[in-house]
Amino acid sequence: MNFENTLAFATQLDEQDPLKDFRSKFLVPKHKGRDAIYFCGNSLGLQPITAQQYTSDIFANWQDLAIEGFFAGDNPWLGYHKQLTKTLSGIVGAKAEEVTVMNSLTVNLHLLLISFYKPTSKRFKIIMEGGAFPSDQYALASQVKFHGFDPKNAIVEIFPRDGEDILRTEDILATINTHADELALVLFGGINYYTGQCFNIEAITLATHKAGAYAGFDLAHAAGNVILKLNDWDVDFACWCSYKYMNSGPGGISGIYVHEKHFNNTDLSRFEGWWGHRQDRRFLMPPEFEPEIGAAGWQLSTSPIMLLALHKASLDIFEQAGGIVPLRKKSELLTAYLEFLINSINEVNNEVLFKIITPKNKQERGGQLSIVCKQNAKAIFNFLTDNGVIGDWREPNVIRLAPVPLYNSFTQVFEVGRILGAAVVEVK
Ligand SMILES: *Cc1c(COP(=O)(O)O)cnc(C)c1O
Repeated sequence: MNFENTLAFATQLDEQDPLKDFRSKFLVPKHKGRDAIYFCGNSLGLQPITAQQYTSDIFANWQDLAIEGFFAGDNPWLGYHKQLTKTLSGIVGAKAEEVTVMNSLTVNLHLLLISFYKPTSKRFKIIMEGGAFPSDQYALASQVKFHGFDPKNAIVEIFPRDGEDILRTEDILATINTHADELALVLFGGINYYTGQCFNIEAITLATHKAGAYAGFDLAHAAGNVILKLNDWDVDFACWCSYKYMNSGPGGISGIYVHEKHFNNTDLSRFEGWWGHRQDRRFLMPPEFEPEIGAAGWQLSTSPIMLLALHKASLDIFEQAGGIVPLRKKSELLTAYLEFLINSINEVNNEVLFKIITPKNKQERGGQLSIVCKQNAKAIFNFLTDNGVIGDWREPNVIRLAPVPLYNSFTQVFEVGRILGAAVVEVK
């Protein structure tokens, strides 16, 4: 599309946007009495207006039915999670039984590592992206130590080449081949939180399997943002949080995926709890654990129904929007428009004031752009904030902006471009 740097053009894109009314389904923070421009859905998605109603329904059932709420009412709590897995499995490209919701993200990463990282003296290495989200670094290092290995030898991080900002797929695949004989696991983000780079999950998984190892992904920045095909891509396991692109509230429930080929894989052991027991026999309280078929077998504890209700409020909106495909289509346009406007500022100033380190190719990124500010970075970020733009600051000089298709508009993207252009003139 040929973009134009005018309000009229942005307004026209909004008018043509089939998802334009979805914005009214969310509560938007105010700035000086007007709606702020919220470009921070990559950190915490906005609150669906229905979230309060969905949780009040649980309060009402708790009041009226108490313990019977597990079995009675419109949405009995015992099977409540199953109402979420249909939409959620569509969002991540999995079969319904391959997905469940439980715990929070880092906890689930540990639980899945217990199953899928079983190092031996010969195969003990984990390959991961350099500069991964800190929680992933801590989780992997502690797992390695837990099994009696030294992270220095066991964890191989891949960094971009000198002078480059993002990883080349060829370098990732080459590293997997180099370590093939000692490799136990490849654990990558779907999208790197800092650069916004979306990795080639399919190619990484294929190379990992050729090396005889398992491939797992932390999809915190990918789930609900880009199109995923976890089952088709043969990914072994994955987990994600629901509070970023999936708007399920701070500390919201996490999701896990386990490929169906592992449902009867007896090499995998796991930490077990009663909520993972076959649901039809769970309340017979048998002494021996018999897992529920599928990802649900990894559940440990009674589902936190309040968190599930919050997640359902948001997933129902995804469903109404037609799922991830139309959302991604709009997201690609929003982000490309933001990129165009930022590049226009550089052109007008005849200087690269804002360097976008996120890949240009839409297959290699999601909604977020990570922008290195060459001068006055923090002051420019503060200027955005003072003008009602909520973005996100990363040391030492990166501003992350993530327009979200459910509640951001092309006019807002235009407005952010205008404010950034003004910042260049006014921030000294
Ligand atoms: C946001 C994020 C997390 C956060 O983990 P929690 O356990 O939910 O606090 C972990 N990993 C990645 C890659 C993230 O982007």
